[in-house]
Amino acid sequence: MKIRVGMGFDVHALEEHRDFFLGGIKLASTKGAVGHSDADVLIHALCDALLGAANLRDIGHHFSNTDDKWKGMDSKFFLSEVTRLVREKGWAIGNVDCTVCLEQPKINPHIAAMKKTLAPLMAIDEDDVSIKATTNERLGYVGREEGVCAYAVVLLQQL
Ligand code: MG
Repeated sequence: MKIRVGMGFDVHALEEHRDFFLGGIKLASTKGAVGHSDADVLIHALCDALLGAANLRDIGHHFSNTDDKWKGMDSKFFLSEVTRLVREKGWAIGNVDCTVCLEQPKINPHIAAMKKTLAPLMAIDEDDVSIKATTNERLGYVGREEGVCAYAVVLLQQL
């Protein structure tokens, strides 16, 4: 069976008094991510990993951040659409593994809810969705709480 891997990375700035959407859920936080859509950095990294594995360009190619159509958009829609595109090209999603780099809030208590939210959007089991969190040890833009970034790796299997 033919398989493909893909990797994705995304970063968004954090600002006070913004809603913070991460992994498809809204976190209680004094700061939130800034972006054209809902700025869900975890979903964006995941979309890029899936598109990369299927050789379908990147999230900006499909959902441009200069197109008003996507302004304030719920990123869960992007993940559903990307899943559809990947399937249309003949691939099934095997598993996904993500890492979020963030100082606060702690996301470990919310990982189960994120997995439960994201798995059905990709039509895979929750056990095939791994989400991990790390701080940046107070170093760099993540350490200064100026931004959040996420990495994702996915495996696709030929349908
Ligand atoms: Mg993004």
